Amino acid sequence: MFVSEIRLPIMERSETFRSAISLLLSTLKNLKRNYWSVYSYYASEGRCPPFLYPTMVFQSLENFCSDLLNRANQVDPGARLDSIISEHGELERDRTALLAEITRLSSSLSQRIAGTGAMNVAQTHSISQLEQGTSIKSYQAVDALSFDLVERMLGSAWIRENKYVPFSVFDLFDYQIDPKSFIACIPYHDSFRARFWAIMAHELAHVFVYESTQATRNIEIISLLWDFTEPLVDEFSMDFTTASRQLTELFSDIIGTYVCPATFVTSTVKLPYSTESDVDPLISRIQRSTHPPTDCRLAAMKEVLEGNGLLYADSVLDDYVDSSLKLFCRKNLTGLTPSSQDVMEDYTELAKLVSQSLLEVLPHTTVKPMTTSDWQMTRKGLFCELDLPPTFLVNLAWIKRLECIRRDSNHDFRAYSESRKRETQFLENIINSAQKYYTERIASRVSGDIYDLCIDSS
Ligand SMILES: [Zn+2]
Repeated sequence: MFVSEIRLPIMERSETFRSAISLLLSTLKNLKRNYWSVYSYYASEGRCPPFLYPTMVFQSLENFCSDLLNRANQVDPGARLDSIISEHGELERDRTALLAEITRLSSSLSQRIAGTGAMNVAQTHSISQLEQGTSIKSYQAVDALSFDLVERMLGSAWIRENKYVPFSVFDLFDYQIDPKSFIACIPYHDSFRARFWAIMAHELAHVFVYESTQATRNIEIISLLWDFTEPLVDEFSMDFTTASRQLTELFSDIIGTYVCPATFVTSTVKLPYSTESDVDPLISRIQRSTHPPTDCRLAAMKEVLEGNGLLYADSVLDDYVDSSLKLFCRKNLTGLTPSSQDVMEDYTELAKLVSQSLLEVLPHTTVKPMTTSDWQMTRKGLFCELDLPPTFLVNLAWIKRLECIRRDSNHDFRAYSESRKRETQFLENIINSAQKYYTERIASRVSGDIYDLCIDSS
């Protein structure tokens, strides 16, 4: 039997995919070897490594890559043309995603080891060795925060069972996390702005939600997701996937704030204001969006602060929450048509209900809230040595800023900028403290375990 003419370019394309993906697989193996050689160099000398060997990251990427290769091999040249073309489209999308992950890991390795003396990469890089040497602090500080947050959400037993190690990269994208490989991404411009890292609590809460619904199958969490999907579909004519995606986002906001209250404050600065345009009315935007409107997210988060008593316990936080919500409300009054205001109100009420219901379920899970006494302890950090866990430290960074905002309202401009200058030093101290936590409490605790594991896998 002869291959019809039109099938030839299709077959050629399949072959191109197969060779491109094989090449990615070998690049990944090389990268894995490089990571391992740097890590084992430190581990064998008993020194704190610049990163913990990210076993989970490589496992997940290798699985992804092998799966892609299988799919490319299984494309049947005799199948219907349209089905081959659509499979090729999906392969192309996934191959690009994989390539992006590999590129991230590759640049991250050189950034993390530059300035540490492990390898002489700085010469091949445009960024100076000194800058890179300083940035390693931020990497380790963020890793420390991730580890602390995961421990507060999923517990130390889960960490041991899953051999979890934190791994973060700074890149051009916004805050995001891959719930399978656990690579946490933070935008470059926030590498020294530790205050904004509070958003990591939202990102790592995605891991908790993913684990609760996929792996550990927590019935209470799953049924709560189900219970609220229906009203979202009914009241806002969303499709099922969009509704459950938006609920996952709300869950992550709520859990993030529960563990790390500063997530609320960071969100008010980071999330866009809701405004409406005539071309794209609110309801149709809601139906297409991954995230619920900002107002609804903030309302859900405020319920958490209220529910765990922080608003009554801290007047500075209370004032901030109050005035920021007023601002969002005023923005809506001028930006939204009356019918969209109704949509927003309905969604906000639902978001509050989601929050209240989740707050009843969370005490039965591994998630640990930041209590009022934890908050008071964090507050004391303003006046003494910053020997606090990383989650508390990012909250402290916001407490300091909120205190400044309140005090600055009575200051002239010069005093205002003076106080901001002093704050830069404060943020650096916070990063140093988080890095100390990494060296003393995380690297020493995890590395023995991971070391054994890696010897098996390499
Ligand atoms: Zn999210």
